[in-house]
Amino acid sequence: MSLDIDKIRADFPILQQKIYNRPLVYFDNAATTQRPQQVIDALIRTYTEYYGNIHRAAHFLADKATMAYEETRAKVRNLINAESSDQIIFTKGTTESVNLVAFSFGESFIHEGDEIIVSEMEHHSNIVPWQLLAGRKGAKIIMLPIDNNGRLLIEQLDTLITERTRLIAVTHVSNVLGTRNPIQEIARIAHSKGVRILVDGAQAAAHLLIDVQDLDVDFYAFSAHKMYGPNGVGVLYGKKELLEQMPPYQGGGEMISEVKFSGTTYNELPYKFEAGTPNISGVIAFGAAIDYLQNIGIENAASWETELLNYATAKLTQMGVRIYGNQPGKSGVISFNVDGVHFFDLGTMLDKFGIAVRTGHHCADPLMDHFNIQGTVRVSLAFYNTKEEIDVFIEALKKVISMF
Ligand code: PLP
Repeated sequence: MSLDIDKIRADFPILQQKIYNRPLVYFDNAATTQRPQQVIDALIRTYTEYYGNIHRAAHFLADKATMAYEETRAKVRNLINAESSDQIIFTKGTTESVNLVAFSFGESFIHEGDEIIVSEMEHHSNIVPWQLLAGRKGAKIIMLPIDNNGRLLIEQLDTLITERTRLIAVTHVSNVLGTRNPIQEIARIAHSKGVRILVDGAQAAAHLLIDVQDLDVDFYAFSAHKMYGPNGVGVLYGKKELLEQMPPYQGGGEMISEVKFSGTTYNELPYKFEAGTPNISGVIAFGAAIDYLQNIGIENAASWETELLNYATAKLTQMGVRIYGNQPGKSGVISFNVDGVHFFDLGTMLDKFGIAVRTGHHCADPLMDHFNIQGTVRVSLAFYNTKEEIDVFIEALKKVISMF
């Protein structure tokens, strides 16, 4: 099915504006996507019609809010084909989901001398929580390297996994290279050696059909704000046998069954991991974002994004810029540098043409070290982008380069 991009764009009020008197070209979708009116309406509806604090509800508003909140949980379960809704934990984002596992899985399963394998292409949020854990427990972080094309060297897992390895932390899709990692294969290798796997799905969930059972991952984390949903909402999926053995991450309301000064018993899944009042309106509006994405069809979105990716890559290649990451099947992310021009200057000048790109290390310092660079310019695409926008970007880039 081909998408009606004009119709889709009309759903996104923020895309209609001009920046410095030029039509906005929004190419920073890997950092955060924009929201359709349907999601904004869901937020407004929650606050104007049925806002109340969820669970244990004795009144109409709270009851309705609880139902809408739990409805989103069911939608997430369906989106990623989890076995059951109680394996879907709401957090404030991928970062918190990874920290939850690093703390809680770490408490139960990581001991002094244990090893955690982390890939070289990870976002800092899938590195630092493991370093903190390693520091607390006296464990070791082992790096799984990439090659210069941005491919993860998974054949090295055979030697990197030892009898002390407990977990592999790896991203599904790189936010810098666009590389799509063979998660199913990595999970198979890990499990054949009794090792668990956590997947950072921040850059995957809006662009790939995810089936956590088919991938056979132990944990899968992602953020709503990269999926046309509200910010401040994330998801952690986990295998039930693990979640049940893991202690709570935070203490407070909702996560308890009974509290006495002599001791506390904890609530069942998923509430054990959802202490305090969560982002109620955000989770409810996330449900509207999932509906929106599924209406478009994730595969339809992905195939349009791939067409845009190929179009932009061909034009940039013609210009002779250096692109980092060229793996087959890569996602709609292009990181590049132009000889003799600092990436920050490029980004700042492109902004004056109304073009939003990201510059810098993209929270992936080890990856920057691999390529011996300080940063890149990054164009990241979404289904609402167009070839005309790419043309505008390429023309602006040529002008900017000619100024230096
Ligand atoms: N992982 C990857 C690959 C990302 O690209 C990002 C954000 O850019 C994150 C994790 C962190 O996501 P959040 O800031 O929503 O927690």
